[in-house]
Amino acid sequence: MIDYHLHAKYSNDSKASLLDYAILAKREQFRAIAITDHLDFSPESETYNRQEHLSILEQARKTAPETYIALGAEFTWRPKLVEQIHAWQELLDFDYTIGSVHYLDEVNTVVSSRQAGDFFAQTPVEEAYGRYFEMLLLTAESGLFHTIGHLDICKRYGVQHYGAFDPHRWEVELRRVFRACLNTNTGLELNLSGLRQYPKEPYPALETLKMARQEGLRLITVGSDSHRAEQFSASLIQEGFRLLKEAGFEQVFHWREGEPIGLPLA
Ligand SMILES: [Zn+2]
Ligand SMILES: [Zn+2]
Repeated sequence: MIDYHLHAKYSNDSKASLLDYAILAKREQFRAIAITDHLDFSPESETYNRQEHLSILEQARKTAPETYIALGAEFTWRPKLVEQIHAWQELLDFDYTIGSVHYLDEVNTVVSSRQAGDFFAQTPVEEAYGRYFEMLLLTAESGLFHTIGHLDICKRYGVQHYGAFDPHRWEVELRRVFRACLNTNTGLELNLSGLRQYPKEPYPALETLKMARQEGLRLITVGSDSHRAEQFSASLIQEGFRLLKEAGFEQVFHWREGEPIGLPLA
């Protein structure tokens, strides 16, 4: 099993410890996990210590020697952050990076916060989701990341305003994103956090996974997007594998030193 989306110390919204994840991964015999903190601050910032960052990783690797613990990051894609993302990629040899859209507009409406509710209340769905998918397309076209994170997270609070997310209504936009992924060799992640949030379905759900597979996309991984060790779960990952199989995928991938490694789903 693998879990390629975990948050810990360097994420502003998590206090989890990488060591706790390592202990759980060892107990559940995970083949690989990735620590993907939100590195949306400058690597030059005073509170950041590269040596400490790498020594925590080393300790976790010693704790669970049978599990590959990948050095990852989840970056927020925004035009104004591109230079900073390059700076991080020069500073650290990432095994794996996720590119995510976290803002709904150029003013700071965070897609996964309750503020998003106010934005949705004042914005027609075509505009709100339309803008989100435009930014997602740019993220895929950038080719800066190994995968695109939580593909349709616009529905996290969106479902409360616009009702259930219908992927067929957004099929043109979604397929455009998948083709951009293929052009830039960018994969997708099946992010399972939606199962514990309002949509009660992952980002993305089965129908959208099928579309991705139909477009020819093969590079796919799974992640719990845990922000606390209690959210780490082998049965959640198994549910993800089941969905991938049902959608027509034959392999699930994890990345080591930037290289994708496929594991059979059968
Ligand atoms: Zn995210
Ligand atoms: Zn995340």
